[in-house]
Amino acid sequence: MTEIVPHWIDGARHPGGSGRHGDVFQPATGAVARRVALADTADVNAAVASAVKAAPDWAESSLSTRARVLFAFRELVERHAGELAELITAEHGKVLSDAAGEVRRGLEVVEFACGIPHLLKGEHSEQVSRGVDAYSVRQPLGVAVGITPFNFPVMVPMWMFPVAIACGNTFVLKPSDRDPSPSVRLAELFAEAGLPPGVLNVVQGDADAVNALLDHPDVAGVSFVGSTPIARHVYSSGTAAGKRVQALGGAKNHMVVLPDLGPADLDDAADAAVSAGYGSAGERCMAISVVVAVGDVGDALVPVIAERTRALRTGPGTEPESQMGPLVTAQARDRVLSYVDAGVTEGATLVVDGRGYAPAGHESGFWAGPTLFDHVTPDMSIYTDEIFGPVLCVVRVPTFEAAVELVNANPYGNGTAIFTGDGLAAREYQRRVSVGMVGVNVPIPVPMAYYSFGGWKDSLFGDTHVHGAHGVHFYTRAKAITARWPRHRAGVDLGFPTHG
Ligand code: NAD
Repeated sequence: MTEIVPHWIDGARHPGGSGRHGDVFQPATGAVARRVALADTADVNAAVASAVKAAPDWAESSLSTRARVLFAFRELVERHAGELAELITAEHGKVLSDAAGEVRRGLEVVEFACGIPHLLKGEHSEQVSRGVDAYSVRQPLGVAVGITPFNFPVMVPMWMFPVAIACGNTFVLKPSDRDPSPSVRLAELFAEAGLPPGVLNVVQGDADAVNALLDHPDVAGVSFVGSTPIARHVYSSGTAAGKRVQALGGAKNHMVVLPDLGPADLDDAADAAVSAGYGSAGERCMAISVVVAVGDVGDALVPVIAERTRALRTGPGTEPESQMGPLVTAQARDRVLSYVDAGVTEGATLVVDGRGYAPAGHESGFWAGPTLFDHVTPDMSIYTDEIFGPVLCVVRVPTFEAAVELVNANPYGNGTAIFTGDGLAAREYQRRVSVGMVGVNVPIPVPMAYYSFGGWKDSLFGDTHVHGAHGVHFYTRAKAITARWPRHRAGVDLGFPTHG
């Protein structure tokens, strides 16, 4: 019998009552590995009700109690990191080393959240007026929701729930239905760490579950990560329903390479472009999908990128020699390959063709080999659209100014990188570029957990980024208190209070 991935409600696995299920594939073989419960409104209501019931007690728990549970969770995730990585590879397809890296980056957010007693310290001003003190505190929202994409089934949920729960909220997570198992395992480990039932719930599902959460009057805040059209929908529906929303969307990340680089540095830039372009088969929101070659640097750079691209080994994520795994579903693969066809039709130069590839013995998997296009222009669909696959495009521009103009004209603004030995040019780029995360000779500038992650423009709707100080801000409400303990009565005074 096929295993069914359940919900996690009120501290236990829960089959749900909708009767609807979705297929969960093993991307390397194309087989249906499991099925997943798809929540209906009643299932969503049960999860939110559990979170509502747990909220008052959890909000009352001491900061030390919360930190202790987070420390215990941290230890358990560390101990089960290998198992979590295997679950990721089985359902997502990425290679095991990449999956292990994802678990590690998620753990860093738990480690950040362990510092919650320090992070929630307020401000205090003594004697703002005679005998009057003012101070501020941050209090939990109540029930927070996280809606997450398929491409990081451990790390992206962990951007959210450790911080929200540390802040005293309860949480309902709606993971991607394509790789749903790791979320349930994380919830189980958190329960084993001592998290009370109802503080973290998981509802599996699709658009129906998302919309039921957005409509639910007891949900106070929503964190979303996924594609731009859905991010826009979640932001507008959630805010219209009076919730606070942070909705992170898609990306088209440019890596600008300046012509000042010598041969060794050019090799380094080529390595970076290939690693950031094809890592996780390009299914990363911080993947580099466009190399912007400035001046004549493309003539030397493209052949080196091509040589490295041809040498990549694509195969099942469980095999140690594989550097790149399959795509997540057959639809994702077909979509990526259709963009390669479109690039050829639109007149880009196909330098490395990833079409028609399948490793021996795994012909039914969802494969696309790495593809490299040169002489791509901004009007081509391979440039304008987020492909979310192993397709790297090189756009050639004459000057640094043209590079900045190109990147700033793009509607996305998630990440970008500049490769140069010229510090002044790098500084100028970092200051002028309309992008939320910038790498200087770093191709995937994902901020550490104690900074905040988020893009600009169509890559983020809302005004707070995730984790770090922004995360704590998002999951709490500020309260300002003005206090006076009078020795003598002041008497009636109808004047507007000033500070004597
Ligand atoms: P997606 O937008 O299809 O799905 C994201 C979530 O929304 C899932 O939980 C899904 O079930 C739900 N959803 C899907 N369709 C919906 C609908 N019509 N109504 C309501 N909810 C719906 O994204 P994906 O394919 O899972 O993930 C890939 C996308 O996520 C890419 O665009 C990638 O750039 C983006 N992403 C962005 C970041 C970031 O930090 N900005 C990080 C990771 C992934």
